[in-house]
Amino acid sequence: MNTPAYSYIEYETIDDNSIAIISLNRPRQRNAQNRGLLEELGRAFEIAELDDDVRVVILRANGPSFSAGHDLGSADARRERTEGPDQLESFRNNGGTKLGAEKFWRQEWHHYFQNTRRWRDLRKITIASVQGPVYSAGLMLMWACDLIVSDTTASFADVVGARLGMCGVEYFAHPWELGPRRAKELLLTGDAIDADEAHRIGMVSKVFPEGRLEEDTIEFARRIAARPSAAALMIKEAVNQTQDNQGFFNALNAAFTLHELNHAHWGLVSGGEVFMDPSAPWKDAPPVRIAEKDKP
Ligand code: ZN
Repeated sequence: MNTPAYSYIEYETIDDNSIAIISLNRPRQRNAQNRGLLEELGRAFEIAELDDDVRVVILRANGPSFSAGHDLGSADARRERTEGPDQLESFRNNGGTKLGAEKFWRQEWHHYFQNTRRWRDLRKITIASVQGPVYSAGLMLMWACDLIVSDTTASFADVVGARLGMCGVEYFAHPWELGPRRAKELLLTGDAIDADEAHRIGMVSKVFPEGRLEEDTIEFARRIAARPSAAALMIKEAVNQTQDNQGFFNALNAAFTLHELNHAHWGLVSGGEVFMDPSAPWKDAPPVRIAEKDKP
């Protein structure tokens, strides 16, 4: 299969193409997600899905952090959204030329909400393999996967509540992944949970020793790749359809609408200049604390 050129990710397959490995590759930016990265990630998931040999997709990241969230201001992020020859086409369609809340709503639906939902329902078994800080939009990528494994360095937080005046990221799986009270606590404080706690509450399936994450994830993936692909997909669908019937899909939609109301609120407060809390000192925010190890 022809592999397109990637700038922000890497794509490879191993074991006679039965396992595809997608690596986020912006380690110096802590794998912050700019639009170009998300578009490439979408193409890579699609290629893995198209390939009948692929049974399991591992989503991992180079460097010490799986993903620090959306890219709010790197040179790449500014260049790709600024009008001119380097602007990505996706900023000129799907609402990119609209005004106000409509622009946010349409753009975020395509590039943060619907793409994450689509990856969650990918026709392959997906494993997120994460390390270091996994913050905010980093959680969205991880939560879209069927299984999550980490090493002992991992910590998990959605900091947009405490730092940006937002009610969580666009794909609001928080209550489902963390439980309703823990979701409120972490969003209201901006605190993180560590790998052991994430394992205890069932969000993370395995916590591997530091330095072993890559190899141990592949061993884990091999066990799953050995299952018949039809059975694997039916197991995935049985669980996903159960969650959807419990209201997962409708709850995600409702919370996404609130998220867009939240952006519109800050747009009104700031006179249309910023769509997050304009007084939020996010660049000078203190380090994220680990909730269960830190009092109060
Ligand atoms: Zn948003």
